[in-house]
Amino acid sequence: MPKIFKKKDNKEAEEKASRARRVRFISRLRGMKDILPDEYKYWNLIIKKATELSRSYGFKRMDTPVLENLELYERSSGRSSDIVVKEMFSFIDKNGEKIALRPEATPGIIRSYIEHGMFNLPQPVKLFWLGPVFRHDKPQAGRFRQFSQFNLESIGDASPVADAELIAITYYFFRELQLEVMTQINSVGCASCRKEYLVKLENFYKERGRRTKLCNDCKKRLAKNPLRLLDCKEKQCQEIAADAPQIVDSLCEDCRNHFIKVLEYLDELNIPYNLNPTLVRGLDYYNRTVFEIWPSSAEATEGKPEEQSRQNALGGGGRYDGLVEYMGGRPTPACGFGIGIERVILKIKEKNIPLKDEEKGDLFLAHLGDPARRKIMVLFEELRKNGFKVRQAFTKDNLKSQLELANQAGVKYTLILGQKEIMDGTILIRDMESGIQEIVDYKKVVAEIEKRLGSPSKKI
Ligand code: AMP
Repeated sequence: MPKIFKKKDNKEAEEKASRARRVRFISRLRGMKDILPDEYKYWNLIIKKATELSRSYGFKRMDTPVLENLELYERSSGRSSDIVVKEMFSFIDKNGEKIALRPEATPGIIRSYIEHGMFNLPQPVKLFWLGPVFRHDKPQAGRFRQFSQFNLESIGDASPVADAELIAITYYFFRELQLEVMTQINSVGCASCRKEYLVKLENFYKERGRRTKLCNDCKKRLAKNPLRLLDCKEKQCQEIAADAPQIVDSLCEDCRNHFIKVLEYLDELNIPYNLNPTLVRGLDYYNRTVFEIWPSSAEATEGKPEEQSRQNALGGGGRYDGLVEYMGGRPTPACGFGIGIERVILKIKEKNIPLKDEEKGDLFLAHLGDPARRKIMVLFEELRKNGFKVRQAFTKDNLKSQLELANQAGVKYTLILGQKEIMDGTILIRDMESGIQEIVDYKKVVAEIEKRLGSPSKKI
């Protein structure tokens, strides 16, 4: 066989073998997101803001496991809630136990409060929680299957001040992130006033063939959990709900007074809110105050603002006075909220809000040649130890590319060390804005930098 054909055969065989070697790429799961380095500045900002606010208002950080007993959520969120029925990631583990990935934070926090005897601490116990939650929702813009929440829970306080304080914190959180929001607020009363209201509500839905116009889910809810008819996200159901009797008209005296007090505190603090009679929240455990934080309608970009805001709520919460007892603890009033971090980031990006670049450094260390590289590796550690924000590119050899990186890092000065400077016992200080370079004594470089940039704080 002529040589040339043999070569072609070899090539084909090689390509075939290479294709076989290339393994199938496994992409991320639907509804899950990677957080890439460029995105982290938003996370850092939100975590910082949440931490500062929580600390100011006396909330202490805690965490709970991602996996919990499935029953924890079935019992707390309610067996007929969307979270439990449709959205929970649950499975049977190797020991045959029914497990769930947490779909919300509150049940785990309450379990922890009871399990660790936090009722023995001075009340209220004010807890700050931040972490991922999982819901098998239909993925779309702003709706993921893994997302993160910032939660505050105030456990052991029945006073309306506690509700108002939480709503105020959410308002300040968004205001300080320069996002315009409108707090939607309602009261769903207590078990006794709700009983009377539910009769009125069921009668309303039975009137004049309203039932037939409801979505399939709402037809089922009418029998199981009629309150949920009010906050269905389907357009036809929302139109009917707008004419439904309002729960605030059925509140007992205690619940009415509690609600009025919450609103009075908010008025005093000048916190805007919208009384929203159809807001009930989707979980069984809420009583009295419920609230949601919606992007202000001016910020809705398409479709009906009201509809869009409802579906893109940035956060929500309320009072859950019966939950601790229902979960096996002592009767303990409590309230809390959860804010969806990814949605807040989407809003910040949408509004192009400028962010401080935390990655920015004070100084860059550049080198020319291996002996210089060794010396600046030592100098780098000395400057970093002294509290300067130093940046470097030890693995690069080319000075031009190092200076480009120094520019990207936004530093004020670059220190340049080459063969000549090593021989002379000097180093160059380059002012990155003017491009002017000065020669300084290598031994005095730290003092020289301190003179120009000031001494950095050494606090940890
Ligand atoms: P909820 O407990 O359902 O009221 O959720 C509290 C907040 O979490 C919401 O207001 C949203 O900001 C956020 N959130 C809820 N579900 C999702 C989701 N599937 N993807 C992203 N964020 C969500």
